[in-house]
Amino acid sequence: MRDEERRPPPGVLEQGWRTKGGRTYHNDPGCEWLQKGQNRLRLIGKDTHEVVPVRWADVGPGQLQPCDHCCAPAWLERHGRAQVSEKPCLVMSDDRWWEGTLIWESSRRPDGLWWATVTYRKQGQMITEVRSQHDIRAR
Ligand SMILES: [Zn+2]
Repeated sequence: MRDEERRPPPGVLEQGWRTKGGRTYHNDPGCEWLQKGQNRLRLIGKDTHEVVPVRWADVGPGQLQPCDHCCAPAWLERHGRAQVSEKPCLVMSDDRWWEGTLIWESSRRPDGLWWATVTYRKQGQMITEVRSQHDIRAR
C-alpha cells in the first residue's frame, strides 16, 4: 500500500477510536455522536459496544468512515489538537512540485474536495494561493 493512502485525511488523527462492530472512526473517545449511539443501544435494551483504540494506518481502505462530528479540522482546533497550523507540503505548479506550507480549510467544500491556503517558494518567490487537495502533497 502506498504511504499516502495510510495517512489520515484532514481532520482525522492518526490515533482514534471505534466501537467493536462499529463502522465509524472517531478522534474523540467521548464523542457526542458515539455516546448517542451507545445510549440508543442501551435504550432498546441492547449491549453497548466497547470503545477500543484504533490506528488509522491499521484500517483497511473503506472499512471505517471518519465521524462527521469529531473528525474535522474544526474539532481539532476546538480541542487544541490541530495539527500544527502550518503543515509542510508540496504544491503542484507548472508540472513540478514545490516545497511550501499549507493551512486546510475547516471543512470540505461542496465540490467534495479539501482546499487549503498554500504558501510556497517557487524560483525565489514566495507565492500564496488557494489550492485543492489535488495540487497538494504531504512531505
Ligand atoms: Zn465522533
